[in-house]
Amino acid sequence: MKMIAATRNRHKLEEFARMLEPLGFSLVSQEEVCPGLEVEEDGETFAENARKKALAIFRRTGLPAIADDSGICVDALGGAPGVHSARYADDESEGHDDKANNRKLLRELEGVPAEGRGAAFVAAICCAFEEGDLVECQGLCRGTVAFREEGDNGFGYDPLFLVEDGRSFAQLTGEEKDRISHRGNALRQLYALLKEREAAKTGEEK
Ligand code: IMP
Repeated sequence: MKMIAATRNRHKLEEFARMLEPLGFSLVSQEEVCPGLEVEEDGETFAENARKKALAIFRRTGLPAIADDSGICVDALGGAPGVHSARYADDESEGHDDKANNRKLLRELEGVPAEGRGAAFVAAICCAFEEGDLVECQGLCRGTVAFREEGDNGFGYDPLFLVEDGRSFAQLTGEEKDRISHRGNALRQLYALLKEREAAKTGEEK
């Protein structure tokens, strides 16, 4: 079954495909089906934004759609940048700029010692199958914010997010990141929920 992924981020599309293709979904980027569709991410929670994006694609295409909304929540900043992660440094750069976001985060945490730099990556996922038929879940990964960028893999805040073994997300392979990441955790929950859904449907058909 075709599922439209509400993202232009190649990394996210790959992460979705790795998890959902074994369940029989073939992932198609929103760019191929409804290019130019813009959805304002003005929700107050990750879940609200994910739902809004998935429903917008479903309403436009009539096909099942998957969307995620994610970001980093820093304890010492009262959970900021949170839902504003992608646009954190928009006031000081032109449009979405990961490097500017990372510079701003380091600046905001200047003088905060290692033990005060706790943070969590959060990812909410919503699959919209019909108007009132949504499958939703949320994953989390805790770590700390580094004092400088480390590593070249990944995207966004990856070079600043240190996990338990002291490496940053940007120093992990894709598979290592999937095993512990917020999106990996959310996608594993989603996998289980979609399997349950499939089993219930098969039961109904018998
Ligand atoms: P979204 O595309 O609206 O979900 O924006 C999420 C923002 O949070 C991105 O621009 C990234 O800066 C950040 N983000 C979300 N997930 C990750 C991740 O896995 N690694 C690094 N940054 C992330």
